[in-house]
Amino acid sequence: MVRTRIAPSPTGQDVHVGSVATALMNFAWAHRNKGQFVVRIEDTDRSRLVPGGEKKMLDTLDRIGLPGDESPKVGGPYAPYRQSERLAVYKKYAEELVKNNKAYYCVCTPERLTKMREEQQAKKQLPKYDRLCLNNQDEVKKKVLAGEKHVVRLKIPDNEEIVVNDLIRGQIKFGTKDIDDQVLLKSDGYPTYHLAVVVDDHLMKITHVIRGEEWLPSTPKHVIIYQSFGWELPVFVHVSLLRNPDKSKLSKRKNPVWTSWYLDEQGIYPEALLNYLALMGWSHPEGKEKFSLDEYVEKFDINDIQTTAPVFDPVKLDWMNGLYIRESQNSNLKTQILEFYKKRKINLDENLVEKTIPLIKERIKKLSGYLPLCEFFFNKPEKYEIDLKSKKDLLKNLGEELEKVKDWKASVIGESMQGLVKKLGVKAGEFFMVVRVAMTGKKISPPLNESMEILGKEECLKRIDQSPRIQ
Ligand code: GLU
Repeated sequence: MVRTRIAPSPTGQDVHVGSVATALMNFAWAHRNKGQFVVRIEDTDRSRLVPGGEKKMLDTLDRIGLPGDESPKVGGPYAPYRQSERLAVYKKYAEELVKNNKAYYCVCTPERLTKMREEQQAKKQLPKYDRLCLNNQDEVKKKVLAGEKHVVRLKIPDNEEIVVNDLIRGQIKFGTKDIDDQVLLKSDGYPTYHLAVVVDDHLMKITHVIRGEEWLPSTPKHVIIYQSFGWELPVFVHVSLLRNPDKSKLSKRKNPVWTSWYLDEQGIYPEALLNYLALMGWSHPEGKEKFSLDEYVEKFDINDIQTTAPVFDPVKLDWMNGLYIRESQNSNLKTQILEFYKKRKINLDENLVEKTIPLIKERIKKLSGYLPLCEFFFNKPEKYEIDLKSKKDLLKNLGEELEKVKDWKASVIGESMQGLVKKLGVKAGEFFMVVRVAMTGKKISPPLNESMEILGKEECLKRIDQSPRIQ
């Protein structure tokens, strides 16, 4: 039975796109093997909690189609799935380690620890707990029994080599002399990440821990904790972090990293985002770029995850989304556009949007690209990209010519304008540029004749009259 998990900490306002990439692999590996994908909330670092972060994260995972089979939302056989509700469990296991001499109580004050660390730094030594309390455990235990504030520390074995077997990275060896006696249980009763993650992965019967490579340095500590309990290790897979096209780390200080930003601000489809992220560190066996989540689940194999750092390029993401837009039903695309703008308090005329869809479907890559291209259908231009004042005569002729058009259809409008070009003996390219700018304000727009048909005769004539030639 394959059981995977993601274990987000609600220390950010939403799910990081990099975490979606990891979630995808966990989701796919569990489902490909008819197992379960667990979502566990790791909220033990109370000082870094972001209000509303957990709800947003769980909602985003649902929204993009990666809900947990077991989670704080839907529960499951190993509930609760929120670590802050499992404090008694961690305490019990920390006590067990103390009882078996695998961990020990420590009553050192923060002041003493700070002083110790400063002295070590001054001597250019690796900051490590000096084991004062380990060497006085009998006395320390008495203090603990008397109610003194304390933590539980892991007793890292002396001079051992800890081997981490990573499925995609092979064997990685760590010497224990470089590892600090990690705090497992804090004085406020909360566990540290290290204890909680191991206890929960064990109790929740997680078989594969697929997570970001930033956790690799923590893994030897986890291995020691597993060994201290005598528990079987899960399979570890540390996947490479996403990089910017310039190879720098994708971080919230530099880039938009929150999943909802791509969905809500950019108008990227959840399916397109998943499809693009599926290509981060993995390729389809047939080299396909566009595929559904179902197909990914069917084809994905953790053994094929690449360790080279995947590049997350927003330009390519837009391109991928464009493929999805082109394949969507017109009526669907219309609804998506209306909803996208409604969320930003812009109510667009539904009929008008519907008419514009065939013109822009091949042109926009994401929903946020709609209005920049189509604004002129809804409002007359406020700015013109070329100076129309000098085109006064040409526009006057155009107005008179278009006045005569009875059947206001793109083809007829086009013929009428072609006729005028001939009659005036002007250069077609330049002529149509002037018309385009008079109608749309811009040098680049959806197809001109079709746009003019949608604008309607009256509006087109008005725009010709009111364009700056008369100002
Ligand atoms: N709580 C950790 C995080 O926020 C989870 C790390 C892990 O998957 O073990 O990413």
